[in-house]
Amino acid sequence: MSEIAKRLETQAIHAGEPRPAICGAVVTPVFQSSTFFCDAEKGYHGNRYIRLNNTPNHEVLHAKLAALEGGEAALVTSSGMSAITTTMLTVLRAGDHLLAQNNLYGGTYDFVTHDLESFGISYTFIDANRPETWAAHLRENTRAVYCETITNPLMEVGDLPAIARFAQQHSLVSMIDNTFASPVNFNPIRHGFNLVIHSGTKYLNGHNDIVAGAIVGKADAIERIRLKLNHLGGALDPHACFLFNRGIKTLVVRMRYQNESVLKVARFLEQHPRVSRVLYPGLESHSNHRRARELFAGFGGMLSFEVKGGGEAAQRFIERLTIPLAAWSLGGVESLITQPSLTTHAGLSPERRREIGIKDELVRLSVGLEATEDLIADLEQALHAQ
Ligand code: PLP
Repeated sequence: MSEIAKRLETQAIHAGEPRPAICGAVVTPVFQSSTFFCDAEKGYHGNRYIRLNNTPNHEVLHAKLAALEGGEAALVTSSGMSAITTTMLTVLRAGDHLLAQNNLYGGTYDFVTHDLESFGISYTFIDANRPETWAAHLRENTRAVYCETITNPLMEVGDLPAIARFAQQHSLVSMIDNTFASPVNFNPIRHGFNLVIHSGTKYLNGHNDIVAGAIVGKADAIERIRLKLNHLGGALDPHACFLFNRGIKTLVVRMRYQNESVLKVARFLEQHPRVSRVLYPGLESHSNHRRARELFAGFGGMLSFEVKGGGEAAQRFIERLTIPLAAWSLGGVESLITQPSLTTHAGLSPERRREIGIKDELVRLSVGLEATEDLIADLEQALHAQ
């Protein structure tokens, strides 16, 4: 590819696409075939079969995602959780110990706290903002460290370069969930991370119409994860692959619009008398703002805020909105709003929620691609009616 074809916008559209095009089709078609003619020389994992994640639809995505994250190879999976669990279960074995950021996405937190033990894997949570405390948690059997670029729903940005350096110094595998930033805003591999994980359900696909996951890293590491995934069975269906590929083509323009739109929404909310706190790394008031400004090309499409008056007031506010839809998930063209204490983090005990700072009145907003002015007007009317 020429220099110009290496830019992110161009990679998102052209990287990995078969050339010459199949039957002249500009868009790679869906290969809706579970199995393909055998090649005896390739062996079990080399022959094409949907569960082995190696149909032409998978291969386009693998090359495209590797190009976007700047990794040697990539692998798509049936969900973000499948990417997370398969990666952890490849990197960690019985007897190993994991250091994990203390403020993870609920599904990941549940897997670490409820499931790892049954595989003989122990863990310790660390504060990603306090590098000076990490070494004390190292054990002889510590193998890996796991974190998120921007945490959900509190929008914390840990000391990410320090985590990657710490992992290198102590021969740990570093894994990072880059879902909230996307490769448009942050490239973990350039900062020394080994494995980058995504819920492709969110920004990468961006249309709230599929569930998918992805992992990017060095070719040998991705191959090990692929073999594990082939056994665990978390393959992405070819039609979902097709939609995922279509979604990624507009990732860069979507993400840049969302970066701009959310900053305006965050500034509007920050000055509103019925909002007590806004959490967005793009705001000067955010405790990790300086770090986020240094590391990120943009601050992402997610923000959280606290509505004055407690949990019920927040619930009433959500009910009055006419544009953001009260639904889980994030990163799509439709704005989605949720109250973490009642939805994504309802599984945590109230004490645990309080401990990590998720109040009942906290509202999480995923800003979509609607006109920013319309969203602000809608938020204003719903807050005004309080
Ligand atoms: N990682 C993050 C940061 C998420 O927010 C989510 C889901 O909300 C996941 C991973 C899990 O992704 P999926 O729902 O695609 O399994």
